[in-house]
Amino acid sequence: MSQVSLSNTSGAPARPSPVGSPLTAPYWEAAARGQLLLQQCADCGKVRHYPRLLCDGCFSDQTRWMPASGRGRVHSWTHCHHAFHPAFAPELPYTLVTIDLEEGVRALGRWRGGGLAIGDAVEGHFEQRAEGPELYFTPAA
Ligand SMILES: [Zn+2]
Repeated sequence: MSQVSLSNTSGAPARPSPVGSPLTAPYWEAAARGQLLLQQCADCGKVRHYPRLLCDGCFSDQTRWMPASGRGRVHSWTHCHHAFHPAFAPELPYTLVTIDLEEGVRALGRWRGGGLAIGDAVEGHFEQRAEGPELYFTPAA
């Protein structure tokens, strides 16, 4: 979910900010500290990302949170040449990557690196922006 602010100091459209909920609050609070947390079923242990109410493995609503390594491999990517929100237009073109995290789930983020190939080793980071933390990936160190 996002919320659009219609004003900022430059007069340009503001970037959408993430809007937390009781379901996603632990994720966003950790992201603000630079830590990637993943939701895990407290009954069967299945890891899931993005946060959801029920486990799709056993339908339990019992949840715990686990820190992720941030490491993974490139699953796919897209080069964005069209801004679907006017606040992103000055950043075009940019690249979004889908990463297979070591924990067995996929995460989406910005790409900050050179060329990409499926299977490349990457690591995730958070940038603390005015509108909220932004997950991005770089080549693994
Ligand atoms: Zn489960």
